[in-house]
Order: sequence, then C-alpha cells, then structure tokens
Amino acid sequence: MRGDRIRKVVIVGGGTAGWMTAAAMSQILGEMPDLTIELVESDEIGTVGVGEATIPQINLFNALLGIDERDFVRSTNATYKLGIEFRDWTRIGHSYVHPFGFYGLDMLGIEFHHHWLKGRMAGDAVPLDVYSLGVVAGLAGRFAHPSPDQPNSPLSRIAYAFQFDASLYAKYLRQRAEALGVRRTEGRIVDVVQNGETGFVEAVVLSDERLVEGDLFIDCSGFRGLLIEQALQGGFEDWSKWLPCDRAVAVPCENSDDQQPLTRSTARLAGWQWRIPLQHRTGNGYVYSSAQIGDDEAADVLLANLDGAALAEPRLLRFKAGHRKKAWIKNVVAIGLAGGFLEPLESTSIHLIQTGIARLMTLFPTRRFDDIEIERYNRLTVREYADIRDFLVLHYHANERTDSELWRYCRETAPPEGVSYKLDMFRRTGRVIREHDELFTETSWLAVLVGQGAEAQNYHPAADILSDAETLQRLAHIREVVAQTAAMMPTQNDYLQRQGSASNVTLRRAS
Ligand code: FAD
Repeated sequence: MRGDRIRKVVIVGGGTAGWMTAAAMSQILGEMPDLTIELVESDEIGTVGVGEATIPQINLFNALLGIDERDFVRSTNATYKLGIEFRDWTRIGHSYVHPFGFYGLDMLGIEFHHHWLKGRMAGDAVPLDVYSLGVVAGLAGRFAHPSPDQPNSPLSRIAYAFQFDASLYAKYLRQRAEALGVRRTEGRIVDVVQNGETGFVEAVVLSDERLVEGDLFIDCSGFRGLLIEQALQGGFEDWSKWLPCDRAVAVPCENSDDQQPLTRSTARLAGWQWRIPLQHRTGNGYVYSSAQIGDDEAADVLLANLDGAALAEPRLLRFKAGHRKKAWIKNVVAIGLAGGFLEPLESTSIHLIQTGIARLMTLFPTRRFDDIEIERYNRLTVREYADIRDFLVLHYHANERTDSELWRYCRETAPPEGVSYKLDMFRRTGRVIREHDELFTETSWLAVLVGQGAEAQNYHPAADILSDAETLQRLAHIREVVAQTAAMMPTQNDYLQRQGSASNVTLRRAS
C-alpha cells in the first residue's frame, strides 16, 4: 500500500461549494483507508446566500450522490427549469428563450437550423423558438420529464435543470456528508499556518486558537479566497472589460400565479434583472455596472419590478468577473467563489463547482503533489472559465440597444476572439461551432446567436436536397408536433403537486 496518501482533507467554508465538495468527496473517497474530511465554517460570517438557478448537468451531480429527485425537489423547494427567457436584451420589446434540449429534428444528416434558415430565406418568418419543446412548454407553464421510450416525440429529448433554495441545498448536502463521516467544525479562521520553507499550508487557526491541520486544503471560503488569495496570493484574471457588471442587489418576493419553469432575465439600462420562481417564493436580483447606476437607484429599480411583495430587505453583493490565475497552488485548491466568478447570466457557478470537484477527483493528489497534475487542473479550469466567458459576452456584445451607455459600450468593445469567430462563422455560413468539449452546445450558441439578432446569410448546401415547398411543409409539421406535445404536458404546478411538492402559492402559504 502506498505511503504517501492524503490522510486529512480540510474544506474551508460551508456554502454551496463547501458542502457540495464535502458530499462528493465523502461519497467517492469515503472508503479510502485512514482518510478524514473536516469542514470548517463560520455561522458568524455566513454564506453568499444566492445561487438558485442551475443547468441540466446538476442532474449528473445529484445522481452521483444517489439523490432521489423527488426528495431533493421537496427538500429544497425546487422548481423545474427548461431554459432562460431573455427579455429586452436584443432591443426593448424583444424576447427569446435559450432552451435546454434541442430545436426541431435533424434532417438529411444536417442540423435542423439549416432547414430553418432555408425556410426563412424562402419567406417563412416563424421564429426559431417555436421549434423547441422546452420553449413552448416553458412559456406555457408546462413541464414533464423526458420520455426516452417515445423516441419519435420531442419529449424524448427535453432537458431540464432546477431552481432551488441554495441554503436548503447546502443543508441537504450537509446531512448527507455528515452521514458519510465528514466532520464539521464551527469557528472563524483568523490565521493560516504555512511551512517556512515550502509555503505549503499546514493548518488554519480559529479565533479560539484551535488549530485545524491537514494535508490537502480546499478553499471554499467565497469571494475572499482566504487561502488561495490571502495566504498564497494566487492573483486574479480580471475580465470586467468584457463583463462590466460588478454588483448585484438581491431580494426575494412572493410568488405570482404565473409559474413558468423558466428563469427570466430582463435587460435594464445598467445591467439586467433575474427572476427565479421557486415553490415558496421568487428570487430576484439586479446585476449592474456600478459605473452606470448607484446602489440605491438599482435597489429602487429592482423593488419596482417584482411580481409580489418583497419578503426581505434588498441585499448588496460586490464582485468582479474573472478567475484566480491558478485555482490550485501547492496543497490548496480553490472551488466556488474562492476560485472565480462569472456573473449569473447563464447560471454557471454551481456547475463550475461541480466540474472543479470532478477534476479534483480525477486528479486527486498524493502528499507529493505532483506538478503535472496541478498544471493540468489549472489549465483545464482556465479553459472552462474562458469558454463560459465567451458565451456570456455574446449576450452583451450582440445587442442593438441604443438607450444606455452600458449597451453601447458592450456592443462597441471588441469581444474575445472566440466570440468574433463564432459570430463571423454564423453570419457568413449559418454554421454553429462548438469548440473542443466546451460546456455550451450548438443549441445554446444557436439560441443566443439568433436571439441576439445575428443574421445568417447562408445555410448548409445540402439543405437544398429538399425543395422550398418540401422544407416549408416539414417545418410546419415539426412545429405542429411541438405545439401538440406541449399542450398535452401537465402544468408545472400540477406536476409538482403530483410528486408531493406544493408549488401552488396558496397551499404553500397556508402550510
Ligand atoms: P459562500 O457562499 O460565500 O461561502 C463561503 C463559506 O466560507 C461560508 O460558509 C463562510 O462562513 C465561510 N468562511 C469564509 N470566511 C471564513 C472564515 N474566516 N472562517 C470560517 N469560515 C469562513 N450560481 C448559480 O449556479 N446560479 C445562480 O443563479 C447564481 N446566482 C448568483 C447571483 C449572484 C449575485 C452571485 C454573487 C452569485 C450567484 N451564483 C449563482 C453563485 C453562487 O451563489 C455561488 O457559486 C455559490 O453560492 C457558492 O458560493 P461559495 O460556497 O463559494 O461561497
């Protein structure tokens, strides 16, 4: 048996990142001989307390932990999510949905959207949205799980994620992690002990002078980056040039009766507002550029645009778009906000936690901390951040709004190369490119390219195998099937109630 195994992991922080890490690590490595996992958190400091919308990959994480979906949905007051509706992003009055899942049906071996583009050029102005079951069902407030046993139905390939109460999710994971042996220590860390020669972290010191020692430290301490930045000075790659929003004000409010399984993002003069309906309340926030609007004014705009009565005082959060130059330094790995933050426009932060954990599990070190593993971890992490950044920048850059400085600035600032390339490729050829194994699929890029008003001048030549008339006929048939399928799906409210959750507002309030 090898003698250089990690014997003690210390997780610093008990927000979503800390407890996701603890739950996954105890599940995967719990049986490793002599391994102890300890999580230190401070109730006094608390968590960031937002982070409610997810993407479909969360299903993989929950499955890895053996979580029963119904139990999870009930325990976290979750709702389903079929995509994100973007209002006023392209221009005021315009809207589109970025759905999970697919549009239409690939035909003749080429992607559906080439046939749609051909149809447009033949005079059919029907928007792309109506070919996606996720969009049509989402806007109609309907939901059902995918049914792979009906391969000819669009329901076979519908994809979904969740919107949930992040603090309840952390609590839920904590129970699981503690049951698997993770030790939780309450206390405020006031100092970090590093080896005088190597700089490796040896222990964290709590305010009552207790020492928590370890071999491997996972920094989940949030924006402050207690170990990765304050102790090891990892440095920060700042992307605010492309993503200038640097603050958010958040407030929950009472639900409206309109329960769509969608997150909504509405562009505003100095940023955008999120609306995330959960079973028991709706989460809201205004993400804005502090160069364009003051905090009080932003809070006023938010409060004036809620579905129901506010349930708390508005909460201010400050951030910067970007990531630590190195997420793993010596024996410290930063996961969650300690590692970086890209604004919540496409709900990617929890996903970044998940992939950070997965990468760490794959490259789990020994006490030798081999450079080659660390270098790989850091390289893949930076690439993942850059891919997501590009997708987010597309939303801001490809806009037609002329009503504020923010939107003018974003349109006129040259985007990262990857965005220009994809825009150029789509405009000139109608092709949607997905590089390597980047997170967002062709469907996602297509949704936002088309949604943000990029016009393709061409389509795949093979789409001409069908005549114009045949193309238009097939398009009409596909959208009819989508509409009929959506109409047969239950409303999300009914669906949740059937599963033992009560999305109905009155039921919830009475309970
Ligand atoms: P935190 O929640 O800040 O937790 C840090 C932990 O470290 C806490 O337990 C704290 O007590 C502990 N700690 C810190 N210092 C000390 C100390 N000295 N001693 C002891 N303990 C300490 N993500 C999504 O996926 N979807 C979204 O819709 C979404 N929306 C967001 C909106 C906004 C405005 C922001 C800012 C973020 C959003 N996120 C979203 C990101 C999401 O909130 C975070 O990724 C997630 O909550 C993880 O946070 P964390 O655990 O890294 O940090």
